[in-house]
Amino acid sequence: MPTSAVLHSPNILSILSEVFGYESFRGPQQEIIEHVTAGQDALVLMPTGGGKSLCYQIPAIARQSAGLGITIVVSPLIALMHDQVGALHEAGVSAAFLNSTLNPEEAQDIEQRLRRGEITLLYAAPERVTTPRFLALLDALYAQNLLSLFAIDEAHCVSQWGHDFRPDYRGLTILHERFPGTPRLALTATADALTRDDIVERLQLENARLFISSFDRPNIRYTIVEKKDASAQLLRFIEREHEGEAGVVYCQSRKRVEEVAEMLAQTGMDALPYHAGLDASVRQKNQNRFLRDEGVVMVATIAFGMGIDKPDVRFVAHLDMPKNIEGYYQETGRAGRDGLKADAWMVYGLQDVVNQRRMIDESPAEENFKQLMRGKLDALLALAEATDCRRVRLLSYFGEASHPCGNCDNCLHPPAVWDGTDAARKLLSTVFRAEQQSGFSFGSGHIMDILRGKATEKVSQYGHSQLTTFGIGAEFSEAQLRGVLRQLIAMGALNVQGQVFNTLQLTEGSRAVLRGDVKVWLRESVNHKPEKRSRKPHAPGPAAANLNQDDLVRYINLKAWRAEVAKEHNLPAYVIFHDATLAMIASADPQSLEDLRGISGIGVKKLEAYGQEVLKVCRVQLK
Ligand code: ADP
Ligand code: ZN
Repeated sequence: MPTSAVLHSPNILSILSEVFGYESFRGPQQEIIEHVTAGQDALVLMPTGGGKSLCYQIPAIARQSAGLGITIVVSPLIALMHDQVGALHEAGVSAAFLNSTLNPEEAQDIEQRLRRGEITLLYAAPERVTTPRFLALLDALYAQNLLSLFAIDEAHCVSQWGHDFRPDYRGLTILHERFPGTPRLALTATADALTRDDIVERLQLENARLFISSFDRPNIRYTIVEKKDASAQLLRFIEREHEGEAGVVYCQSRKRVEEVAEMLAQTGMDALPYHAGLDASVRQKNQNRFLRDEGVVMVATIAFGMGIDKPDVRFVAHLDMPKNIEGYYQETGRAGRDGLKADAWMVYGLQDVVNQRRMIDESPAEENFKQLMRGKLDALLALAEATDCRRVRLLSYFGEASHPCGNCDNCLHPPAVWDGTDAARKLLSTVFRAEQQSGFSFGSGHIMDILRGKATEKVSQYGHSQLTTFGIGAEFSEAQLRGVLRQLIAMGALNVQGQVFNTLQLTEGSRAVLRGDVKVWLRESVNHKPEKRSRKPHAPGPAAANLNQDDLVRYINLKAWRAEVAKEHNLPAYVIFHDATLAMIASADPQSLEDLRGISGIGVKKLEAYGQEVLKVCRVQLK
């Protein structure tokens, strides 16, 4: 059997360029690929869009060509396997999947090809990998020295700490026990230490080398705005910045998903809903539409998104606040995998703070778990209220130091801040006095009315105009006071309780604010109008930003051609060529196959399969 020593890095580089058509490795890819190709275990933490797939695909190809056999890719995403394998076929790599969508004959055919060593990468879900039948197949391959590598994708699914926990992942330790010596590579985009330690322990990866990449996604612009009328704000954001482009809108509840999808669709947008309450066939259909058609907006709960490798998602919008920064980062990371400009946009308001706190309080979990969850929520609230660079805060949450980025809302439009300490003290005293007088606590609306001296029915009903704080906050607008409230709740200086009325209570933390020991700085409540871009619907998007008129015609023709090919092959368009590749072709104005060679994204197989057609399409417009 050939030893791994024969696998040199030039081999790896030539696979990168010949098979995938890429010129250079990104970040730590090369080091990881060398390590894994040499047969060592690894745990790879890389952000979404960082390029994890190549970290196992290239070792798989290198090891197979050295006679070391098959790489098994464990992935939870049955619905995406067809496209993942299709993308490898397009690049000329022999790959297959085994899952419940195949009929028995098809599955048998693949098993036979596996035994003959004809397949380089095999995708399967953990629940299948751990079946006796599959293990017997692996036994046979192992006995023939044809089991090369296990790549365990989305490895955080093994951990209970994330929302993607899959019990079947726990069973994967059998791979290590039953096939000792077969290298294993686990990959995830979840960065926190807790999950990482859990993966190491659960998958027995104690001896694996840990590779942690930078989690920065410089092409994503982070924006967090105050929630006023969420639907109208969303509509304006999409119309102004992302007309005709693909995006994901996250909402918390299924009902809200349906409403927002409907609202967007009524304005003529191609918007579809996705949540766990929909029929599996509807979900699959909507997901396919999102992946295959251009410019679809998916309105979804967090049930949607894991493993979605569509590179040209131009925005991810949050209409409700996620639970923590891990969730926020993972969801927003689905934007701009192609490295081109993309937006992460969120609206957030008082109600989000209240809802998230309540969900934690009312969950049946243990108190120490709740405490942990509250801490994570606080970090996200602090991010939302921040007046300095969002990226610096995000990255520092993942333990990475950085400098103000110039590509987030706070960097681009430094917010005005005001000293809300006085307002905060007045608000807390009002909460205190109202409760003291009436014997029970009140909600935020009523407290603000007292503070602003509004003689409402409720104020007179409870005699609250007699309170010493009545009207002492008349100079503050309601928006300002809402900001103060949010900040106080985020700081833990106010508590929100109750199912229906959400009443406010003082906490231990209130005292320091009341005494004036803690300053409360608030961002001025102004919404920056997004820059109005004059663009037509279905504008060519950021890939084509630098093309001249002639290039643009070629680009549009190439896109139309690509759509036909993708349809014929039943694959998403980006599997054939990325937008960026088409743009490079268009501006190269190629006259021969030689001109196409070396364009990023065109490997040997694609050049052979599509080169002539691409040249023909490029010539059409010259007439
Ligand atoms: P992840 O799985 O980490 O989210 P992917 O493996 O899907 O990311 O890669 C994201 C995108 O980056 C893909 O479209 C992929 O083709 C591209 N990519 C990855 N590595 C490179 C590279 N070295 N050069 C150019 N493009 C790359
Ligand atoms: Zn910034």
